[in-house]
Amino acid sequence: MTPEELIMVCTSDIAGQVRGKALTAVDVDGGQPPQVPWTPTNIMITAHGPIADSPWGPLGDLMLTGDPSTHVRLVFGDGDVHRFMLGDLSEPGGAPWACCLRDFARRGLAALEAEFGLTLRGAMEHEFHYDGVEERPNSAYSLDALRRQGAFAGDLLAALREAGLTPESFMPEYGPSQYEVTVAPSEGLRIADEAVILREVSQTIAARHGGRVSFTPMVRPDAVGNGVHVHFSLCGEGGAPVNHDPDGPAGLSAVAGAFLAGILSKLPSLVALTAASTISYLRLVPNRWSASAVNLGQQDREAAVRLCPVFAARGAVEDQFHFEYRVADGTASPYLLLGALVWAGLHGLRQDLPAPPVTEENVAEMSGTDRAALGIQALPTSLSQALDSLAADDDVIAWMGQALHEAYQRHKRFEVGLMADLDPAAQCARYHLAY
Ligand code: GLU
Ligand code: MG
Repeated sequence: MTPEELIMVCTSDIAGQVRGKALTAVDVDGGQPPQVPWTPTNIMITAHGPIADSPWGPLGDLMLTGDPSTHVRLVFGDGDVHRFMLGDLSEPGGAPWACCLRDFARRGLAALEAEFGLTLRGAMEHEFHYDGVEERPNSAYSLDALRRQGAFAGDLLAALREAGLTPESFMPEYGPSQYEVTVAPSEGLRIADEAVILREVSQTIAARHGGRVSFTPMVRPDAVGNGVHVHFSLCGEGGAPVNHDPDGPAGLSAVAGAFLAGILSKLPSLVALTAASTISYLRLVPNRWSASAVNLGQQDREAAVRLCPVFAARGAVEDQFHFEYRVADGTASPYLLLGALVWAGLHGLRQDLPAPPVTEENVAEMSGTDRAALGIQALPTSLSQALDSLAADDDVIAWMGQALHEAYQRHKRFEVGLMADLDPAAQCARYHLAY
């Protein structure tokens, strides 16, 4: 008897967890996109296990339909096969479910294209902790830290390629047992799909090496954080980048300036979606190379949005010039993260906002008055504060829709409650296990 191949049809939910149901591949291969029934309340399952106060309780039914463009099939030399597919949630009648996170991102991308003829190109850069490596002092960026992780990196890059991504780099990072993996940019919704696939494939490869990776924002309160940095650029007709104008402020085109201004103007409420855990806010402080204020910074690793460098050896400026959103981490749903950036950028375009001022100095060292003069807002300092800001932002609520906003608030407020009696170290330990 040969074991059957299973294929899991999955949704990546509010908690950024990938859940679903497996079918036998015999029934899936060569046929229609696979479908499995799903339950609305599942989106209220927190990353820590307990279910938040659900608007649906035991009621309701949904259909989860796999999107074959996200199909991952990893076949290992020992005969082990890992297969999954990401999908969309719909009502029994076929309409997208109001709380389908993939649909939130897809709707924003469709509006960006319909109203402004623009598409988004980008990739999410992931930092993570790998427990297959002993922590040693002075390992930052070191060849020794690459050597000590053994065959994991090579296996990971091969698996990412097999999964349809284009791996670009793997590096030892600054933090304890911290590494980073990057992939080549992709288009639109695929940017978020690839983030989900990258995290899952990383877990698969780590498990095969007898270990685990964690995309938690903070392994412990005193360590440097794990960021998810979203590199992106806007493309126009024929997919040509439209971000650069040599005569624009800091080289920004008018559309890029408006798009970034939209993101910065909404950032205090967007962070509730992009830095989605209580411990995310331990990371968003000065001197962690994450982000600690709402600014657009020239080659600044503590800016909320960074203007990335352009290197003479890498070809034309207009092909390289792009942006990096740094106020995100692995507790965010990649679909909410991508959707948040797109909807807020679209808002800036609709309002025709002028480009934000570009800072060239360390914002954390500027006086409050200087920051205020440049219109630099502070970031929320806790998830609760970010959720309050979101709850007061009618624009973001309209983009999400009332149902999704309410589910999100209930879910995340419940999670805040779960962490309320734990000190930061204990919270970090819980998130380490969950992500
Ligand atoms: N680890 C930092 C973060 O939390 C980023 C370091 C870097 O610039 O790569 O975002
Ligand atoms: Mg890094």
